[in-house]
Amino acid sequence: MATKRCKKSLPFWNSSIIGYPFFGRHRRSDDMSENVKIAVVGSGYVGLVASVCFAEVGHDVICVDNDERKVASLQAGNSLIHENGLPELLEKFGNTKVRFTTDLAEAVRECEVIFIAVGTPQNQAGDADLSFVEAVACEIARSLTSYRVIVEKSTVPVYTNEWVTRSMERNGAARHLFDVVSNPEFLREGTAVSDFLHPDRIVVGADSERAAAVLARIYLPLTSGSYYSQGGAIAGPCNAMYPPPLVLTSTKSAEIIKHASNAFLALKISFINAISNLCEAADANVEQVARGMGLDSRIGSKFLRPGIGYGGSCFPKDVAAFRSVAEQLGIDFNLLAEVEKINDQQKKRFIGKVRAALWTLRGKRIGVLGLAFKGETDDIRESPAIEIVKLLLAEGCSIVAYDPAAMNRTRDILPAGSNLDYATNAYSAAKDADALLILTDWAEFATLDLDRLNKTLRYPIIIDGRNLYHPDIMVKYGFTYVSVGRPAVHPVRDLASSSANI
Ligand code: NAD
Repeated sequence: MATKRCKKSLPFWNSSIIGYPFFGRHRRSDDMSENVKIAVVGSGYVGLVASVCFAEVGHDVICVDNDERKVASLQAGNSLIHENGLPELLEKFGNTKVRFTTDLAEAVRECEVIFIAVGTPQNQAGDADLSFVEAVACEIARSLTSYRVIVEKSTVPVYTNEWVTRSMERNGAARHLFDVVSNPEFLREGTAVSDFLHPDRIVVGADSERAAAVLARIYLPLTSGSYYSQGGAIAGPCNAMYPPPLVLTSTKSAEIIKHASNAFLALKISFINAISNLCEAADANVEQVARGMGLDSRIGSKFLRPGIGYGGSCFPKDVAAFRSVAEQLGIDFNLLAEVEKINDQQKKRFIGKVRAALWTLRGKRIGVLGLAFKGETDDIRESPAIEIVKLLLAEGCSIVAYDPAAMNRTRDILPAGSNLDYATNAYSAAKDADALLILTDWAEFATLDLDRLNKTLRYPIIIDGRNLYHPDIMVKYGFTYVSVGRPAVHPVRDLASSSANI
């Protein structure tokens, strides 16, 4: 008997994980892209960058935020965040192709697609707090009168799309009037605009072909390459010959892709930090080890930079949330607990280096370079630099800190006082200090005038949590230089050298 062929077709995304022709990767680069009316809810690092970048590729955007102060500032042409390339795009599209409002109902009425890009911070239990996402979903539901695609742009745990669907139905949205898709964002603060327009890949998780097609239309200028061939396109690694692929998956897979990617990157950082500790114990050099490892194409050199641990608004909360998701699904993912443990220890080890270099800490004057969680951003959320500053203040040190962009935000949580002051440049932070700490990898901290710095410091001691300098150079300039995963160096006849057994 002939086997009966199964008529049931595979889900549409099964046939098209990468570069599905229908969705445009193989369309000609001179195809005209269609303008889509897009609402983006949330005008933070992701929402604002997404809004101006969607406008840059030709769409019309309404960016909604419930923070009236932010909206007023954006309407006046000012971004409240520091991000390369953002002021220019804001000037180009603000109040024309990108309108700012607090009125979500109006945006739902006018736009075919609504991206949710609100915060998903960590709650006390370590889970993602999805209450902002839920609030937006409920509000959208109450304004829905015709078909809309709701897009999870925020980083959310698997199954969130089902909860969004349920919440919308509970709030009166008829099921045929919407689809929920996942379109996680992989931009990095500091290079967010370029990352958004030149992504390694665009992930769209959709269980409805209709919704997937709408997302494909939005990204067509990128996936077809047409954006890159137009004059004035923002330059970056993608081009018309090599446009980014659209990775089409189920909604759940897309949700997991984002958490798994961030957890893997955090793991890479913790791994090299653990190796740096091993190198310190063995008197080896982690930079040499990282280079030797990173040249292996299976490993790659990115995220193999030792330091004081990862921070920011994403990795800490996403690793914790992913761990919690695994636990709820009955999966033993203890590896992530180790990643967190190593990350936490790295800051404490750094305090140990300061103590080893200075002996006692109470009353010591310390210059600090860097407060942001990484260079080129003003974001201080979960910044290891801030945590180190707090630990040193608790030890009785007095601190003078400098950061090119993050001082205003830091002042809000750590106001200047008797033991903490803010400097206007790196040399003022170093003035008469017992030691200078480098805590953020700002490019300008890697090119300091070392002669001037030596004369400015009370003692020429630099403790570098970002390995911005070569020890041989620092010793030539007369510094005791302590870094991460490399032997500390001391100038000849430096009395500190005998006690600085790091
Ligand atoms: P953010 O805190 O900078 O911005 C969130 C914005 O949402 C705020 O402006 C807030 O006022 C607004 N908001 C909150 N509730 C609202 C509501 N009910 N209606 C309208 N606006 C509301 O957050 P972010 O850094 O842009 O991150 C947003 C999401 O994207 C998070 O899930 C984050 O994990 C994810 N993500 C962030 C990055 C990053 O580098 N920052 C990268 C990728 C993904």
